Amino acid sequence: MILLIVFFYFGCCFGSFAYCLANHWTRSTFKLNTRSSCHHCHKQLAWYELFPLFSYLFQYGRCNHCKLSIPSSYWIVEAITGLLFVHFFYYYSEDSRLLLTGITLAVLFIMSLCDICDRWVPDSLQLLLLVCSLLQIDFKLILWLPLLLLNSLLLLLIYYNWIGGADVKLLFTFQLLIPIDAFPVFLFIASLSGLLFMLGSRFIKKPILELPFVPFLSLAYYCILIYF
Ligand SMILES: [Zn+2]
Repeated sequence: MILLIVFFYFGCCFGSFAYCLANHWTRSTFKLNTRSSCHHCHKQLAWYELFPLFSYLFQYGRCNHCKLSIPSSYWIVEAITGLLFVHFFYYYSEDSRLLLTGITLAVLFIMSLCDICDRWVPDSLQLLLLVCSLLQIDFKLILWLPLLLLNSLLLLLIYYNWIGGADVKLLFTFQLLIPIDAFPVFLFIASLSGLLFMLGSRFIKKPILELPFVPFLSLAYYCILIYF
């Protein structure tokens, strides 16, 4: 139990880091020595203001300096990441591929946040994901003919601009990670969850006009990884 709590909070810390990274990356303000600061008054945060979840809670969701509210998306991302870490650890703690799969999912998580923040995914993350995928590939299991057909379909999607550039690059990489027989299920989960999200957004005040698809592709990959 204690281990799960530790894993949950470790996940919250990673979520906080990933969200800040995605925010800086999409605004082109990313530097290695960047310190966290308030989005409104730009005052650098003290060490006690950097604890995921707790700092938000003890500050009543407001900045200590300018008293303006901190977006709730921060604690939501932190809590979701914590829960995902616990879920992943529960299913994968005994698996020898724990580290490599964990890194792959971490890269996908940051890519998803970049897509949500700005509908843009850095090529360096695409490349990192490709390297992770190549390290996991089992050439003996590849069925070349279905793979050729799948690639032809992807090229068609690019030709007719039916799908965003980052999504296509990601789909090419996913071919290395997902067995070809599970690929239709993977596409079905990604499309259905994206569609349901779009429909759900019509009931809130601000309907989403352009869907960030990377989070749904990542979610579908996670489902395939855990349940197939
Ligand atoms: Zn402030």
